[in-house]
Amino acid sequence: MGWCAVCAGASGGWNRRQFILAMTHACLALAALPRRARGFSIYDESGDVTIGRQADPEILKMFGYYEAPDLQNYVAEVGRRVVAASDTRFNFQFKVVDHTSINAMALPGGFVYVTRGILAEMNDEAQLAGILGHEATHVNSRHGAKLMTKAMATQIATVLGVGAAAAAGSGSAATAVAMISNHLANYMLLGYGREYELEADEVGMRYARRAGYDPRRMVAFLRWMRRNDLLRGQRLYHGFDATHPDTAIRIAKADTMASLLVTEPGPLEIRANEFRAHLDGLRYGEAKDQRRIRTYLVKPGDTLADIARSELHDEGRRFELASLNDLRDDAELVPGTRLKLVVSGGAAAMDLKLTPQ
Ligand SMILES: [Zn+2]
Repeated sequence: MGWCAVCAGASGGWNRRQFILAMTHACLALAALPRRARGFSIYDESGDVTIGRQADPEILKMFGYYEAPDLQNYVAEVGRRVVAASDTRFNFQFKVVDHTSINAMALPGGFVYVTRGILAEMNDEAQLAGILGHEATHVNSRHGAKLMTKAMATQIATVLGVGAAAAAGSGSAATAVAMISNHLANYMLLGYGREYELEADEVGMRYARRAGYDPRRMVAFLRWMRRNDLLRGQRLYHGFDATHPDTAIRIAKADTMASLLVTEPGPLEIRANEFRAHLDGLRYGEAKDQRRIRTYLVKPGDTLADIARSELHDEGRRFELASLNDLRDDAELVPGTRLKLVVSGGAAAMDLKLTPQ
């Protein structure tokens, strides 16, 4: 489990302490499971599902479920399509959380979350498929359980060992819960480390490709994030420095993988217009700012400057339009393309000449 895109731990109404408490709550259920070390991990797949089920309501309480049934259904539908191509043993659930950070996350056992913040910045269904594939890989490959097993190698002997089991009872179970929840919280906040993040990119793109999506769009999204971070002058990938692969290497590897995958037979769907149509009305940025995504259907002869002037009443906002839609400032627009615009609530939203869905 880990926030895998741009970890924005500092923003929004949650903190690390709250999160560790939530994970502790979830992991308490583990103590009720028969204590055994099976295969390579300290708990088996049913343990993953137990943690996920317990933590899911806590995550929704902490980040907020985004109330938009059509969008929720759409994201879940894309997610199901991707995991159907993954030979998974888990039952997945996909949810949009009401948070501004540009992030996605998976709990063990198949609970996957994307923020409304990351959806607003994506531009097509193939990108969503790539991100969901990345998260599904953390689940299917049981990255949390593997890392915990490694981290707790020495403690396992104490917690699960014959001698300790005889002496300890509930005390050792409580210790195990505390250790497990603390480790899980760290992975969530800092990612799973270079090796597993690269694996998630690679395998996730493979899932998306098998599901019929163009994997190059995932690479485009990684590039967009990198560029966007550089433009904003923020630290690249908050929290990634220690544990996530260097972004340039990550993008280069993803690019190589995508180039290989596109040579395989099968459809390479992108579905930009369909994806953007589902974002129409999505809240953008902090709730108090009352901004939303609206979509605009490009007419013949339109330029970004025209659209900025007519729809946003400010030609200067063409740069923002370009960035939001991952276009160059001087891009030639294709009629019939749906573009995302950010509008303020109330009057500005009403006076925008919205195109029918
Ligand atoms: Zn990840």
